[in-house]
Amino acid sequence: MPDKTPNRPGVLTSMFKPLLSKAKVLIVDDEQSNVRLLERILEMFGGTHVRSTTDSRDALPLYLEFEPDLVLLDLHMPHLDGFEVIEQLKTASAPDEYRPILVLTADITMETKRRALASGAKDFVTKPLDHFEVILRMKNLIENRFLHLELQKQNAQLEQQVHERTAQLEAALGELRATQEHIVRQERLSALGMMAGGIAHDFNNALTMMLGYSELLLPVLQSKAPGRELEYLRHVIHAAQDATQIVRRLRDFYRPASGHEIRVPLNLNELVQQAVSLTAPKWKGKCQAEGIQITVHTELGDVPEITGNAAELREVLTNLIFNAVDAMPTGGAIVVRTSRDGDGALLGVSDTGIGMTEEERERCLEPFFTTKGEHGTGLGLSVVYGIIQRHGGSIQIASEKGRGTTFSILLPCSTPCAAPAQEEEPGADAASHKSLRILVADDEEIICELITEYLKADGHQVETAFNGIDALDRFKGATFDLVITDQSMPKMNGEQLARAIAETKAKVPVILLTGFGEEMQAVGNQPEPIDLIVSKPVSASELRWAIHQVTGCEPTDE
Ligand code: ADP
Ligand code: MG
Repeated sequence: MPDKTPNRPGVLTSMFKPLLSKAKVLIVDDEQSNVRLLERILEMFGGTHVRSTTDSRDALPLYLEFEPDLVLLDLHMPHLDGFEVIEQLKTASAPDEYRPILVLTADITMETKRRALASGAKDFVTKPLDHFEVILRMKNLIENRFLHLELQKQNAQLEQQVHERTAQLEAALGELRATQEHIVRQERLSALGMMAGGIAHDFNNALTMMLGYSELLLPVLQSKAPGRELEYLRHVIHAAQDATQIVRRLRDFYRPASGHEIRVPLNLNELVQQAVSLTAPKWKGKCQAEGIQITVHTELGDVPEITGNAAELREVLTNLIFNAVDAMPTGGAIVVRTSRDGDGALLGVSDTGIGMTEEERERCLEPFFTTKGEHGTGLGLSVVYGIIQRHGGSIQIASEKGRGTTFSILLPCSTPCAAPAQEEEPGADAASHKSLRILVADDEEIICELITEYLKADGHQVETAFNGIDALDRFKGATFDLVITDQSMPKMNGEQLARAIAETKAKVPVILLTGFGEEMQAVGNQPEPIDLIVSKPVSASELRWAIHQVTGCEPTDE
């Protein structure tokens, strides 16, 4: 067989140079002449990074410092033989590292070869050395080493990619979970709102009766039966008023924003200062009465102007501060912060109190959810939620059991809405009247009667209609100073009646009476020919106030 090995060093040099010039080779041989020979061979084939030693005790330090791609190692050496050096180098290398050792030996017994390979050498050549054999074996091992390095690099890149992808997926999953939780919470709150609306609507009618007729009975009993009966009646009125408050708060929880909301430019920092002084009796009083220390601290930033209802936003703040005080039975610190957040204003109320469990945190906005037993109504945060929803804002709650709670509220700053309809100038001639001609429309006869009683008691003349169409006919057939209409009536509802009245060009103010359920369906920001919306149940004094608002008319004192 002809030898196919290219035996002209020139050809091999150009073949091996690209590889060998990149490789670092360490030579360990106690015979100087061998070292020289190997250096020369390497030089001949383009090897440029070569270190060597004739003292095998220097092998390890050189190995660590030089980090060779290939080690050429003699076996029989004084002090440390080749097998011992292999052991040392193995312990100094990482387990997945591939740094080949090529053993050079004159001992060609089977036993030595086996031992060398078993101890970790990758290949061996026998002395006297054949140039081509040495260089070919070196080339193979260096190629393997570089392939191994390339593989490791690609593995590391892949691992990095997998790591990044996993992190991205985890982040996406986290976002998805948060969105899902948010949607579930919104859905639950909205379902509860609908339910609360239904209950409140029915309660409204019952309470209207109870409160209305009790109030009518009051002056009668005051003059005729000033004893216990009068006291009983007052209890009935108080209980009905309390129930009315609960219904109102329920309505505040899920009343959607309507075109009649009062929205004016507001300075959030001023509201915070007002709320802090308004609530001072509660947290200062608690300190004095129970000997505990509660501090309220404000950090007011440069916030943009927001538009909203000052009274409602103060209620948000007072509810949050009251809850914070309740959460710190042994004292602590409340911090109220404001800052700019993008285009909005961020309001934060933090406490160092008892905190909430995850379940409490998720449910605390629900109406009637309370952990305070008889002391709590569970309506404070529901009201907060409703108010913030109507202001187009959002609420985030961070809490840790035993560590404290932070409510963060983001409010948008938008251009102010048009001035509320109820602040418009009332009809000029209506203002001078003390006794008004009023048209009352309600499909529930008994409510019509009650309102008529209220109005007559104040010296007004009243005409009633039990549906919208009848009301419009009566309106066209006579002159009225004011129309008070129920919203929900068959055939023509209150809004439609108000529109029809506006079309007659008669400038007569319209008061719309709404139950909770109807408000929930009220249409957003449409301009409606309604001067004031009054929610049921309405008391005599509220009705008086409403009439004064739209007509300027003071009631006749009886
Ligand atoms: P209430 O105060 O009548 O219980 P809220 O609607 O104001 O009703 O609050 C509902 C529940 O949310 C509370 O009972 C309490 O469990 C929890 N909560 C509200 N604010 C805090 C707070 N700052 N720290 C701990 N728990 C709170
Ligand atoms: Mg509360």
